[in-house]
Amino acid sequence: MAETLAGASPAIDTQILVAGAGSTGIAAALAFAAAGWRVTLAGRFPQPLPGRTVALFEASLRFLESIGVLDQVRAAACPIETIHMIDDTDQLLPVPDLVMRAEEIDLPAFGLNVSNDELTAILLDHARASRSFEIVESDIVDYEFEDDGATAILSDGRRIEADFVVAADGRASKARAAAGIDTKEWTYPQVALTALLRHELPHDNVSTEFHTRSGPFTLVPLPPREGAEHRSSLVWLMSPRDAKRRLAKPRADLQYEMEDYSREKLGAITIESGIGEFRMGGLQVSRLTAPRLALVGETCHVFPPIGAQGLNLSLRDVADLEDCLASVDLRNPKELSRALTRYEMHRRADIGLRTHGVDLLNRSLIIPYLPVDFLRGAGFIAMTTLGPLRRAVMREGVAPHLAQPRLMRRETPKEPRMRGKRPRGPEALVDAARGAFAHLRETASRLG
Ligand SMILES: Cc1cc2nc3c(=O)[nH]c(=O)nc-3n(C[C@H](O)[C@H](O)[C@H](O)COP(=O)(O)OP(=O)(O)OC[C@H]3O[C@@H](n4cnc5c(N)ncnc54)[C@H](O)[C@@H]3O)c2cc1C
Repeated sequence: MAETLAGASPAIDTQILVAGAGSTGIAAALAFAAAGWRVTLAGRFPQPLPGRTVALFEASLRFLESIGVLDQVRAAACPIETIHMIDDTDQLLPVPDLVMRAEEIDLPAFGLNVSNDELTAILLDHARASRSFEIVESDIVDYEFEDDGATAILSDGRRIEADFVVAADGRASKARAAAGIDTKEWTYPQVALTALLRHELPHDNVSTEFHTRSGPFTLVPLPPREGAEHRSSLVWLMSPRDAKRRLAKPRADLQYEMEDYSREKLGAITIESGIGEFRMGGLQVSRLTAPRLALVGETCHVFPPIGAQGLNLSLRDVADLEDCLASVDLRNPKELSRALTRYEMHRRADIGLRTHGVDLLNRSLIIPYLPVDFLRGAGFIAMTTLGPLRRAVMREGVAPHLAQPRLMRRETPKEPRMRGKRPRGPEALVDAARGAFAHLRETASRLG
């Protein structure tokens, strides 16, 4: 294979080439190296992402623990103990606030919120310190896939010969294109503005999502910094025109507007970071694998940042792939093909569910259509009043039962920790259903 591609310097030989050094790629390289594979990570390191943070939930924290970085991430992060969702669409059906507390599913917190730049720095420092794999800080400009392996050509002319490629090179993946995997891409008429904020009042480790007609306005708690006791990150979805208008405003005016949107829950707000601007889109792929390749992270799923799903899903891709490849002889095409079929099967449902779920919720907000409003409202009411349903959704959100690879397994949170004399089992369901019906009846009578 080496002879088919000209190159002056000798090729780097590896078992697993991880293409792309974003957070998914670095985490993948660490996980595969820890499992004993000879790994090379290739790609330029990510540029700073202004105002961006990432909320990582329980299963992702288990993953970070298994690759040895959880303590460092925890030290830079803030726990999210409560998620408070507020319907701010002025729809006809009055919708109650939905409050979800981690203690309801016996967890101290749903997860941690950490700045993207700090997360990638922690992963990179750990990778450099552990010296468990080779890091090549250069982009890959071309690939050649053959029956017995793959060759990647670096922008500096060097070549990497690998038994297998894990593509983590983002939404415009070169590896995916070279393997002939088709994509379906779409855009939303939305932009996300992101910023780190300082505020007057404490956040009490609560993440608050206001669901507005232009998309969610989400405040996620951050840890204190010197001179700033109360901090949060903001992800604010809006039309491109509104984003342009807001970015042109003096900061003081924009801060007032943020205070207004947050219903002054955090008091006076000061923007502490640069403001990030991200165009919203979606991406699906026809296949997650090719004979010598598997896709992970944004190479195979992109959707708007609603419910903090993206990187959590990506880490599940990595953990599942690591599981599927365990004890596989990469040089044996049949063994490898069976492992990739397993990966494809495992990941389809999880990725499909998140991509369609986020798409549906987002469209239900930005397209004012009464029946859809009604369904979204009914979902909120059901979640507020049906404790078992709410707990099941919370559990599914932090550690989906469809995806429990080895690197994410731990004792699962137990069924309700009932306090006082609340009913159990079927009685609890009947009670909760009664409550939901009562609420719907009351709402219907108020609507006349
Ligand atoms: C506003 C916003 C908020 C978000 N909040 C959350 C959240 O709270 N929780 C959550 O789970 N997710 C969240 N996400 C999603 C999450 O940030 C992304 O899913 C994640 O950052 C994607 O990481 P990645 O490594 O897969 O892709 P990328 O970050 O795009 O990394 C791809 C890497 O590949 C490299 N690359 C590209 N081409 C090549 C090449 N030819 N050769 C080598 N390398 C190459 C790039 O340089 C880059 O470093 C959010 C997203 C947005 C937009």
